[in-house]
Amino acid sequence: MKALVYNGPGDKSWTDVPNPEIINSTDVIVRVETTTICGSDLHILKGDVPAVTKGRILGHEGVGTITEIGSSVSTLSVGDRVIISCVKSCGHCANCKTGLYSHCLGDEGTSGIGWIFGHLIDGTQAEFVRVPYAENSLYKVPEGVTEDQAVMLSDILPTGFEIGVQNGQIKPGDVVAVIGAGPVGLSAMATAGLYGAATIIAIDLDKNRLEQAKEFGATDTVVSSATDWKAQILALTDGAGVDVAIEAVGIPQTFTMATEIVRPGGRVANVGVHGKPVELHLEELWIKNINISMGLVNTNTLPMLLKLVAQGKLPAEKFASHHFSFDQMLEAYDTFGRAAETNALKVVIS
Ligand code: NAD
Ligand code: ZN
Repeated sequence: MKALVYNGPGDKSWTDVPNPEIINSTDVIVRVETTTICGSDLHILKGDVPAVTKGRILGHEGVGTITEIGSSVSTLSVGDRVIISCVKSCGHCANCKTGLYSHCLGDEGTSGIGWIFGHLIDGTQAEFVRVPYAENSLYKVPEGVTEDQAVMLSDILPTGFEIGVQNGQIKPGDVVAVIGAGPVGLSAMATAGLYGAATIIAIDLDKNRLEQAKEFGATDTVVSSATDWKAQILALTDGAGVDVAIEAVGIPQTFTMATEIVRPGGRVANVGVHGKPVELHLEELWIKNINISMGLVNTNTLPMLLKLVAQGKLPAEKFASHHFSFDQMLEAYDTFGRAAETNALKVVIS
């Protein structure tokens, strides 16, 4: 089969590799019919994630059809159309039972990135993928949900919702700021409305992204490079600051920004993956009674979000900005990698 293989920093190829095979009785093989590229694939390609080694097939988002099932898989069948969660998990260990799928204690991999496809196990940017613990890692796609919609449920929608909106404990009437209007930040904006956020302020450097943000529920926008960005946010919140600040960039400046714009008693939900230490001014934050949360997505809300997508209540298809065939995988990477010029949000490969 063909797959997108990481050959070391700065080097990738769309090349022939052996087809995956069932290893454990809980595995299934999925023919990947739709996949997409995530910013974290670009980080891996730069060499920023040393745990990912040469020869790894990248990708952790995908939709496809089951072609083979392990002997102990009973809730799935050959021919089922499924969404592949970016996190594989056994579903019955102590951590999985609490919904902490990204820290599954199952015997195949280690906690954290070991459980994400395309890191320590082969990923979804391939014609076929082996899915361990398939019964808990795959979700059947209902009739009427398109590939463009379904693939956004592998990672970005659950991430924005679980780590941004749920951890941020958004309540009806809240004023929410989302810093970073990339796919994950936009997912947080799109799902913040589920808990009744009254005002959703999108903050980004890129004006195109801020324009797009309005289609995902943003009520106001602020360009973060503007010298008066803080004054703009205070003006939008009657001088109080926001109830919830969601950080969806992953750099120290935007984390600091989140802590600066939150009102006393408010919450900072950090979603961004930080490659560097951030400054945490507890000496200022304690007296403001700020709660700060963070974490790795679990995708345990995927079934609920899928229902909303099926009912037309979440505009998942709007993330699909470009379409490519599998043969155009490298072109898809090029378009996604030049997002500032191409305005790519999610490139869908099918
Ligand atoms: P992205 O790179 O596509 O988007 C980031 C956005 O931030 C862009 O629109 C960019 O213009 C904007 N930005 C950059 N610098 C900025 C600044 N100074 N002020 C305001 N905006 C700025 O990323 P994404 O795919 O949307 O992911 C967002 C973050 O979420 C990343 O750090 C990613 O690694 C992380 N993530 C976390 C999890 C998790 O489980 N916690 C899962 C997936 C992704
Ligand atoms: Zn588990």
